[in-house]
Amino acid sequence: MPESNKSKNHRHSTLYIVGAIVLAVVLAIVGPALFGESLRPVVGLLEVGGEVFLRMLQMVVVPLVMASVMSGILGLGDVRKLGRPGAYAVSYYLSTTILAVVTGLIVVNIVNPGRGIDPALVEDARKEGEQTLAHAAGRNERQRFEWHNVTGDRSATAGESKNVSIPAKGVWGVRISIDQVGQAETPARALVQWSEDGNEFDELPDGEFVAGTETGIYTTNPAIPVSEKVRFVRIDFQPQEGGTHSIVEAYLVPGAPSIGAIFRNLVLMLFTNNLLGSMVEINLLPLIIFSIAFGAMLTTLGSRAETITSLVLSINDALMNFILLLMKLAPLGIFCLVAARFARAQLDGQFLTLLKTQAWYMTSVIVGLSIHAVFTLSFLLWFFTRRSPWTFFVQMSQAILTAFSTSSSTATLPVTMECAEKNAGVSSRSTEFVLPLGATINMDGTALYEAAAAIFIAQAYALTDPSFVLTFDKQVVIAITATLAAIGAAGIPEAGLVTMLIVLNAVGLPLELIGLILPIDWLLDRFRTAVNTYGDSVGAAIVDKSFTS
Ligand code: ASP
Repeated sequence: MPESNKSKNHRHSTLYIVGAIVLAVVLAIVGPALFGESLRPVVGLLEVGGEVFLRMLQMVVVPLVMASVMSGILGLGDVRKLGRPGAYAVSYYLSTTILAVVTGLIVVNIVNPGRGIDPALVEDARKEGEQTLAHAAGRNERQRFEWHNVTGDRSATAGESKNVSIPAKGVWGVRISIDQVGQAETPARALVQWSEDGNEFDELPDGEFVAGTETGIYTTNPAIPVSEKVRFVRIDFQPQEGGTHSIVEAYLVPGAPSIGAIFRNLVLMLFTNNLLGSMVEINLLPLIIFSIAFGAMLTTLGSRAETITSLVLSINDALMNFILLLMKLAPLGIFCLVAARFARAQLDGQFLTLLKTQAWYMTSVIVGLSIHAVFTLSFLLWFFTRRSPWTFFVQMSQAILTAFSTSSSTATLPVTMECAEKNAGVSSRSTEFVLPLGATINMDGTALYEAAAAIFIAQAYALTDPSFVLTFDKQVVIAITATLAAIGAAGIPEAGLVTMLIVLNAVGLPLELIGLILPIDWLLDRFRTAVNTYGDSVGAAIVDKSFTS
């Protein structure tokens, strides 16, 4: 019977993919132990194989999204019919993202992974994070101020000031850290001033930072914000009196975008001034908006649009068939992707070590993701559609495993659409809208991770700076910004790490502490991408009901 052949094929492909992932991880762990550095060329080859598979998936994303959204509109016959499903989809995206964030917060507060962490590790991570940020922001050593002041014979450095120019792009802050040794009568002090031309300097509001009288490291928290028109910053330094010495360091850090700026960016993300540019950068949101508008116009043209209508439908069909072909290659492509990445981590000596030092943090994120996928999403699926969550999960398994292997929900989108439509029997009307939109804005896994990681960082930071207290309102701010950051994150590998800076900034955590979660991010990214993709598929199945009812 054709139906049972289909499901047998599907089961076989899933098993091949699972086998490929297991084999890849085992070989990646055992291989480097047996063959050491001589394995690097093989890893290089595997990387090429994985990249070929990834590029083939990415190659179809843009035409597929445009063709499928347009054919969806043409199938509906009238764009107004999108109103109700559209509203359901957006409500689903928002509510599941919030549920994910809340789950992440609860789990990380219970497991408390930051508690057991070694403060020396926090310092090391901070340095690594600082380098990464400096690199990302194009900051170089000129943008760093440093004074070493020893009271007594070298007190000549007192009252010195230094200035640097600010890179024009973006919002900046100045972070000052004063390392004071000895009991001070008057604590060390740093004063930040600003200028537009480098000649006339004015005081910055909140620009004065005073250390305490006891020995210790005092750090601005959050960084002192500088306005966007500032081009030069000067810092005056007054050392302590009475103690042994004080060292002041100050540097520019990317500043906190305001909530207003975040909303502004989210709105602007929907529109493009250059359609081809968005295609090149695989920015799906403006392409979806354009395709809806274009499809809607086609529906008003009647018989004059017949040729282009049948062209769009044929492109869509051809691409779906092409994806079927790609899925046959999936076990091989996935093997290459996973083996190469895990083997590289193992060769660099990271993998098993990281699993140990970051075990509790990883556990929190993975447990949170599992609860969200297994309980929350499955319950919603069952409640709204009466489908069996297990059967649906199995039907979507190829997409979920591809998401795990590629770390990109956008690259996985073609497979998600194919599985939802062909395996799970979700109607094309739903998959054509809900999945492309979901792959770009619905990221439950990312939101959960952003919230959990921010709390983990806050817990670890509180060990080194007891003045930082993780209050309930800070947790609420983390929840809100994590939701926005997940909506704004692109469906590409480790995009969540970038938008994570918004969350850290919002609660005044040093951005450099991203170094704490950096080394393990490539691995957690796989789990959260899998949940992102599963969340999108559940959304497509639920919203499907609103097209029919
Ligand atoms: N890699 C994720 C995705 O593509 C985004 C993230 O970094 O969280 O869905």
